[in-house]
Amino acid sequence: MPARFDLGAKPHLGYTASALDRATELRQDKAAIAALEADAGARAFLLSGELVALHKGALQHDPIFTFAEAGALAPCSDRIFLGLRAGAPLFAILIDAEAAEALKRHDDLLVTDLRSIATGGLVAAEYLPPLAQSKAVVGWHARHRFCAKCGAPTEPAQAGWRRDCFVCGTEHFPRIDPVVIMLAIAGERCLLGRQPRFARGQWSCLAGYIEPGETIEEAVRRETFEEAGIKCGRVVYFASQPWPFPMSLMIGCHAEALTTELAVDRAELEDARWFERDEVAAMMLRRHPDGLIVTHPVAIAHHIIRAWLESESTV
Ligand SMILES: [Zn+2]
Repeated sequence: MPARFDLGAKPHLGYTASALDRATELRQDKAAIAALEADAGARAFLLSGELVALHKGALQHDPIFTFAEAGALAPCSDRIFLGLRAGAPLFAILIDAEAAEALKRHDDLLVTDLRSIATGGLVAAEYLPPLAQSKAVVGWHARHRFCAKCGAPTEPAQAGWRRDCFVCGTEHFPRIDPVVIMLAIAGERCLLGRQPRFARGQWSCLAGYIEPGETIEEAVRRETFEEAGIKCGRVVYFASQPWPFPMSLMIGCHAEALTTELAVDRAELEDARWFERDEVAAMMLRRHPDGLIVTHPVAIAHHIIRAWLESESTV
């Protein structure tokens, strides 16, 4: 069946399709990691909290630094082995907030946040997945300096993929937080919501964290009911996306709405309402008469909505 709407070329889903070989088998081999750090081809990203340092370029900027460049710019606290990029080792280097602020004064550098880098296309697309990987793990290190079990300081291990407590022996791993993000569908209408922090006129899918003891399907139904008062039946998985703010995995779904009467939780959402297909297509094409839009294509919400418009996925 041909697509109902001509939405143009399909955009790439941000932070996905990493070209990196994570070479996880090397992480426990200290000698191998030391050799990779000493490799003349070794490169690194420089990060601090939300900020990433970039070499300024004419069209796009370059997030890659040699170890010598990185060392000359800022004291490095933690180093994480990200993997092999076309055979060459790639690391993430954590610098402190003060050092990152100081880098903003360098004329040849741009120090900005990952959201701006992604939505603005500030670096080549191949760098977005490893930058997302870096930001999530670097942030995890910054937040896990102390053991959650006994309170003693922890130390990085496994090339940055574990932190160990030498007092009680607990090994801490950088776990991700699974989030369901869903489009509830009732015939020719879909349910979109607005959070107060959204840009003016922007609408998106509903979303929420999966709780312990819950399946993806149960979380979709619970969150849709809590936020909008809508009961859902069938839930169909669409796709997933790493979302390093701070370290979520977005699990995109379409859901069959069994009811249509809304009861919006105003503590969670500014508003939620049903939209007809034609109106959503106009929003996606940025031709809506009132200037309404859907989420930027860097985020999975855009793709979940588009798939419904194109009838690729139905519930
Ligand atoms: Zn401990």
